[in-house]
Amino acid sequence: MALNTKIEWTKRTANLWHGCVKVNEGCNNCYAATWSRRWGQDIWGADNPRKMIASFWIDLDKFQRLAAKDNAVHPVFVGSMMDIFENPKPLIDNNGKILETTTDDLRERFFQNITDGKYPNLDFLLLTKRPSNINKYIPESWKTSPPTNVMFGTSVVNQSTANNLITHLLKVKGRRFLSVEPQLARLTLLPWLRPKLIDWVIVGGESGQGKRPFNTDWARQLRDECKFTKTPYFFKQVDKVRPIPHDLQVREFYDNTSPANKVSKQS
Ligand code: SF4
Repeated sequence: MALNTKIEWTKRTANLWHGCVKVNEGCNNCYAATWSRRWGQDIWGADNPRKMIASFWIDLDKFQRLAAKDNAVHPVFVGSMMDIFENPKPLIDNNGKILETTTDDLRERFFQNITDGKYPNLDFLLLTKRPSNINKYIPESWKTSPPTNVMFGTSVVNQSTANNLITHLLKVKGRRFLSVEPQLARLTLLPWLRPKLIDWVIVGGESGQGKRPFNTDWARQLRDECKFTKTPYFFKQVDKVRPIPHDLQVREFYDNTSPANKVSKQS
């Protein structure tokens, strides 16, 4: 496990399992699916099992120790190779052996650890393309009193995914963020930013083979909407090849050290 992730908007990344199934056009070039194919793993699709990542618990304990040592709160993105709110699936180990545990058991244990206050110095960014499942799988207590160190997010790529998925995200109590990545079309987020329903917006174009067109003006519009509504805005990338234009070099974070979520400017 690399300690520091290459994903610019988080400090750490952790995965409970690897594997998923594509749900919308945002998934077309899913890098996690590409990696799994390269590794020859049959953990993709509706009918295949997922692969348990046994080091997840050790990683989180280590992240917690390091953050506590720094007297800091470190964001942890869960997960880059899975969707935490996917419907339950069987699990295999590294050797392909079917386990008795399911993805649902892992998720329950993880959420229980958070409820028990095991990770006071970690702030979990739970990003999903299945926000309609969040209330189905979080503990009952989170529905009225969500943990202060969890933020729920959904990925949207155009206006129709925004309209559909944000409606579901808003049914979840607690802090919320949006990942507009890969952005595939112009869209507006004002209906949700104006009433302060969203705490953070991440934007970026697609990278890698088969990347789809991205117009930096789409990102400028979202930057301006965030500025107008005082919502933290993080521009991640054009396509990882072209440089980020000067006026899009905006990398604001929500403030995870304060419940007020004040904006802290990085650049
Ligand atoms: S939901 Fe995420 S992990 Fe799953 S296929 Fe889509 S992009 Fe990949």
